[in-house]
Amino acid sequence: MDISVSVQPFERIYEVIMPKAIFEEILEHVKREYPTEACGVLLGLISEGRSTVKKIVPLRNVLSSDSAFWFELRDWMKAIIDAKKEGLDYIGIYHSHGREHPLPSLSDRHRMLECPGEVWVIVAYIPGKEPALAAYRVDDYSSGLARVYLTVTQDY
Ligand SMILES: [Zn+2]
Repeated sequence: MDISVSVQPFERIYEVIMPKAIFEEILEHVKREYPTEACGVLLGLISEGRSTVKKIVPLRNVLSSDSAFWFELRDWMKAIIDAKKEGLDYIGIYHSHGREHPLPSLSDRHRMLECPGEVWVIVAYIPGKEPALAAYRVDDYSSGLARVYLTVTQDY
């Protein structure tokens, strides 16, 4: 069964608005797991290509790796189904890199091709340095990686 098809966002997402409180929640998760890569689900509202993150659900990195991540698909599905009941859409996933720049790794790029339409937020975090984050999207097999506008905002 191709699970990714049934849960991919309906609309193409061009922009991610992330309230500062949500970003801090992600950062806490990233710091807690460091140097292991942290990962989780981004949920919120999507309208006219703009998504606003309202909630995150941290997932366990089953690879326990500092250079790769993946999660139990069952946990990921549950987060999405629970969110639907709360009226929240699935935006995509976040994960961390213990590197300076939030650039997708080769395995990230391969994974993204399997999840067209999803937004992937990468948080680059090294202790003592300012974290950096970026968002990406792949539309289909024939298109490349697209940057998605990402704004961390004070308000909801
Ligand atoms: Zn990665």
